[in-house]
Amino acid sequence: MNAERIAALAGPGVAVEVVAETGSTNADLLARAAQQCGPLLLVAEHQSAGRGRAGRSWLSSSEGSLTFSLAWRFDGGPHRLSGLPLAVGVALGDALGLLGVQVALKWPNDVLKDGAKLAGILVETRCAADGGTWAVIGIGLNLAMPDDLEARIGRSAAGAPWLARMDREVLMAKLLDALSAALHLFARSGFGAFCARWNLRHAWQGETVTVIDNGAVVQEGLAAGVDDAGRLLLDTAAGRVAVLAGDVSLRVKT
Ligand code: ATP
Repeated sequence: MNAERIAALAGPGVAVEVVAETGSTNADLLARAAQQCGPLLLVAEHQSAGRGRAGRSWLSSSEGSLTFSLAWRFDGGPHRLSGLPLAVGVALGDALGLLGVQVALKWPNDVLKDGAKLAGILVETRCAADGGTWAVIGIGLNLAMPDDLEARIGRSAAGAPWLARMDREVLMAKLLDALSAALHLFARSGFGAFCARWNLRHAWQGETVTVIDNGAVVQEGLAAGVDDAGRLLLDTAAGRVAVLAGDVSLRVKT
């Protein structure tokens, strides 16, 4: 992929770099956050040590995956960024929908196609010297999902053959534009501006789900969408509770 072409295809304001291979684009941008002066997109043609939440791995193949991170500076402390991973999911969902791929969102940070994970989002932060906060937004998007990769992942995963046939740089530029617009909106209005759209795409609305922390079920209830802070609302036997993302995982109860 060519960085200049992606930058030329996308709207102005974000610097673009492409590397042939790296461990983790999130780790690379976090390491550079202190020296960073403006938004930067880092695309890796191959990512060998992609990260998920809580030390989990994101696996990808160079031919069939899009792996990139976007560093974006926000005013104020990290507490201002609650709901950012969900807002990114909404932006990604809308952009993929415009490209003909319909997706749903699984709280807090997954993009599902036909019930299986198509993309993962990992937001990590660093305090900026001026009191602001750098968010590094990592996205892994499956284009193809070959059987051997799905076997290594160990659970069903989705690909998007339609996107795999697209010009990769055009695809990247479209996603970058959608993310930039969403991040500007998030900076102005926070997650409240995305909440209704997240709920429209909620994969498990009305399903009985369990919230898992360190392998143990800590909550069970009917999933009732998210609130303005990006917390999952659960209707439990003891009434409605709001669950903070932290490192918990959600499973649909079978
Ligand atoms: P959970 O799915 O348990 O709620 P999570 O949504 O927080 O966890 P992440 O930490 O965001 O998951 O992503 C890492 C997980 O995603 C891995 O543990 C693996 O199950 C799955 N995974 C890894 N690579 C891929 C991929 N290319 N496509 C789909 N799923 C993947």
